[in-house]
Amino acid sequence: MTTAVYTHPDCSLHEMGSWHPESPERLQAIEDQLIASRIDVFLQRRQAPAAALADIQRVHTNTAIGLVRDNLPQSGGESAYYPLDGDTSLNAHSWQAALHAAGAAIAATDAVLAGEIRNAFCAIRPPGHHARPSMPMGFCLLNNVAIAARHALEVHGLERVAIVDFDVHHGNGTDEAFAAEPRVLMVSFFQHPFYPYSGSSEHRANAVNVPVPAYSDGDTVRTLVTEKWLPALHAQRPQMIFISAGFDAHREDEMGQMGLVEADYAWITEQVMAVADKYAQGRIVSCLEGGYNLSALGRSVVAHLKVLAQLD
Ligand SMILES: [Zn+2]
Repeated sequence: MTTAVYTHPDCSLHEMGSWHPESPERLQAIEDQLIASRIDVFLQRRQAPAAALADIQRVHTNTAIGLVRDNLPQSGGESAYYPLDGDTSLNAHSWQAALHAAGAAIAATDAVLAGEIRNAFCAIRPPGHHARPSMPMGFCLLNNVAIAARHALEVHGLERVAIVDFDVHHGNGTDEAFAAEPRVLMVSFFQHPFYPYSGSSEHRANAVNVPVPAYSDGDTVRTLVTEKWLPALHAQRPQMIFISAGFDAHREDEMGQMGLVEADYAWITEQVMAVADKYAQGRIVSCLEGGYNLSALGRSVVAHLKVLAQLD
């Protein structure tokens, strides 16, 4: 059983200004490291289709969809970017990029549930976990993981789905999308206090969102995974696991102030895989979220994929 990598050329056409850390170079850095590490040949490459409007509407309001779809600036026009908030904007290609990012997560879900592949990593942008049901924000336009998890529930009829989010930021959009959904368990950690300043005070039955202080290292994270995530995951017995795979908690990533290294991402991935193997026939779909130090991002994705594809 293989591991697939989903992506689409349109995901590299969306950009928000040459200064912006959420850049097309992030996907190129991942590609370069997949080749340099020589794991590329063991991965099945798949091109992501575009998501259908109905897929997106399972998570997002028509207002949120319209904010992205209906505000695209003209390519090469006088103003190349349409600002959605202080750090999120659209260019002419953003809607197509967002459709293929969400489409990657959906297609990966279909392929994993069909048994065609064991698991998948979606090398996609724009990222998704800050995108609220009613509003894009925080570099995110559509919530790729939430859309795929809803697809697993509503189209495939799964009854228990888990979302694991190890990005340095709280996945506020995902949290909100499933706040009243008992079939979805969300487990995460996030630097706190830190953007988007949510997640630390809302306690509910189907989420284990663990705030950690700046400068926390891998040992802190491994302890919280062992003590807080794993008991919740074993109690839920998920039939499928989605990962919001952000790599901005890396020690070399200056977006956040945490101290993870590649070995920590590999270890977390091993823990999640063990849960998936026990309850979910190994079914995992992992989607790229943050990660802005290009070298650390590429190396961390390789570490994550080596575990997913059992190449070590
Ligand atoms: Zn992040």
